[in-house]
Amino acid sequence: MTTPLTTSLTLFDTRSRSLKPVTASNGEYLRIYSCGPTVYRDAHVGNLRTFLLGDLIVRTLALSGVRSELVQNITDVGHMSEDLHEDKLLAESAATKIDPFEIARDYESKFHNDLALLGITPAKHYPRASESIQMMLDLIQTLMDQGSAYLGSDGSVYFDAQSFPSYGEVSGNKLSQLLPGHKYEYSEEGAKRFHADWALWKAAGNRTQMVWDSPWGMGFPGWHIECSAMSISYLGGAVDLHLGGIDLRFPHHENERAQSNSVSGEEIVAQWVHGEHLLFEGRKMSKSAGNVVLVHDIVAAGLDPLSLRLCFIENRYRSQIDLTWDSLHAADATIKRWRKKLSEWGVSTPSIQSESVIASLTTLLMNDLGTVDVAIELRRIERDDSISLGEKAHIFRAIDSVFALDLDRVEVKGELTSEQAALLEERAAARAAKNYARSDELRDQLLLLKIAIVDSPAGQSYEVIP
Ligand code: AMP
Ligand code: ZN
Repeated sequence: MTTPLTTSLTLFDTRSRSLKPVTASNGEYLRIYSCGPTVYRDAHVGNLRTFLLGDLIVRTLALSGVRSELVQNITDVGHMSEDLHEDKLLAESAATKIDPFEIARDYESKFHNDLALLGITPAKHYPRASESIQMMLDLIQTLMDQGSAYLGSDGSVYFDAQSFPSYGEVSGNKLSQLLPGHKYEYSEEGAKRFHADWALWKAAGNRTQMVWDSPWGMGFPGWHIECSAMSISYLGGAVDLHLGGIDLRFPHHENERAQSNSVSGEEIVAQWVHGEHLLFEGRKMSKSAGNVVLVHDIVAAGLDPLSLRLCFIENRYRSQIDLTWDSLHAADATIKRWRKKLSEWGVSTPSIQSESVIASLTTLLMNDLGTVDVAIELRRIERDDSISLGEKAHIFRAIDSVFALDLDRVEVKGELTSEQAALLEERAAARAAKNYARSDELRDQLLLLKIAIVDSPAGQSYEVIP
């Protein structure tokens, strides 16, 4: 019998609506699943706030000596837009006349680039939905065999929501409260038995791209089934922490829980943790509001992309943030000041006092990821004359293993290797020649060499990744 490892990190669990200690059920390391990007457009800084949550958790656990394994999916098929009921990738493909898989690979590569610019440690696996079809078909078949799913009159396979009595525990939306007529899930009128049932597999109909063969004919998977399939397969049947933005509570996570638990007969996800949304200059960030900001925009404004990371850190993950250009500029100035001070403070001198400060800062982090309190403390420590410079250096470096603001960076220009410089030049040429396949390839190669490319209408620029 394995003894679970209960860590000292507590996080707010959406299902029990309480703070719960994060626990590694295998007694060794945390198994974490985070819903990833739908790769039909650039990730905006709101999406990135949610993606940072996993990194902050992993780094905080590491600070207390606990290992973790993170899996984040890439949604490249099956995510339907709410208004048009079209696959988001195919809609983008129709608009741009570019192959949907080419679009997906391009934005996937940009997503990794953005993560690198924000100092986010890569997950262990980034499984793609389009490459996990068999996994999903197996799950759907099991659900059908046991009577939790059925073939609808339109040839699509639906989950029978009423077969899962505890539906509603994640979001609070009980089946009895879900009224017919609400757009829970798109389906052909009348094909489902019950209005809150959702599609696990959709019949292809007239669709010819991004379709696969299945026991029920050609079709494509529903959005929720991919996260059940990938979380169960990649994390060995138990998920200690499941992460995502707050909007995913319903229907995405509610439906995922029903699918996963029905297949296994167990509570697959021990803890659901949701990050709150980001607003920009007072309004929800969206294309229609015209206030979408990308990491590239922050770099193009001459700011260190890590200033975005500091803005996120200075707010609790489960509070909304209203980001502004002023707060980004202020964070940029703070990072520059801390880097300068750290270089002046010099080598770290561990002492009983500095170790005890680090221990109390770690305790703050462990309390529901108290990054806000730690940032306030760092500012106080910076000014505290009773702490020696070497002790300050020791404390700041220890916390930077979680904050990851690259505080030891010394700004040196012209530090490129000849290989980096040559690839940068080749990439600029490929981009100018509109050879996007080659320029994407070169961007990926440069990322491996710790150079993150930033494209803007003015041309290509780059950031050196620490
Ligand atoms: P998507 O690429 O649209 O599937 O979204 C990826 C992630 O970003 C999901 O976990 C969403 O919940 C999250 N998300 C979307 N909008 C925001 C926002 N404004 N602030 C924070 N997270 C968001
Ligand atoms: Zn998901």
